Amino acid sequence: MKPTHIEHIGIAVKSLDDAIPYYEKVLGLECYAVEEVKDQKVKTAFFKVGQTKIELLESTDPEGPIGKFLEKKGEGIHHIAFAVPDVDKALKDAEANGVKLIDQQGRKGAEGLNIGFLHPKTTFGVLTELCSE
Ligand code: ZN
Repeated sequence: MKPTHIEHIGIAVKSLDDAIPYYEKVLGLECYAVEEVKDQKVKTAFFKVGQTKIELLESTDPEGPIGKFLEKKGEGIHHIAFAVPDVDKALKDAEANGVKLIDQQGRKGAEGLNIGFLHPKTTFGVLTELCSE
């Protein structure tokens, strides 16, 4: 596996409506997309910083992954996503190196990307997402 760049940083927030003005007015970034990802039970808002995006994640269900994260840890950085040429291959490479996978193979994420997650227990506490176009 050889990531080309950090595709995005996922940040859990209680409310997109509350958080978006900080990114727009204070940091001067533009929210260019808001999208609901139903199977992840989240609403996402995207900003671009150079080649990297900020993905704000608001929970739409307290039992969903972001709902549980907010309950346990509060707002903050939720995951880091690396862009890789081929998610399925990168997941296999990671597994072969002893990393526990959350996704055995790539699935569809926000923005139509192919994504897969590595378990934070085996990535030094960082929930790691791999994604490709
Ligand atoms: Zn993500």
